[in-house]
Amino acid sequence: MKTAGTCPVEGCERAIPGRFNSFCAFHHFMIPAEYTRSLMRMKIECANTTDDDARAQLQERLPTYIRLAMSKLPQDRRASA
Ligand SMILES: [Zn+2]
Repeated sequence: MKTAGTCPVEGCERAIPGRFNSFCAFHHFMIPAEYTRSLMRMKIECANTTDDDARAQLQERLPTYIRLAMSKLPQDRRASA
């Protein structure tokens, strides 16, 4: 299990820049912007909402979105660090 703040891509040990990003800068720009934008919007909504249920729902959906975004990485680059 990786520590929080480390890129979730397999084999990548780079730090995640900024609390609203989900990937290191290197992988962030390999993933289509529509996915990284959706993830960032969810994280910002999560941080800003005062509704505990809404926050819990967003936190539940985040891992699914992160997996979806990672599936858009070019296959041959996924493991390279
Ligand atoms: Zn990475």
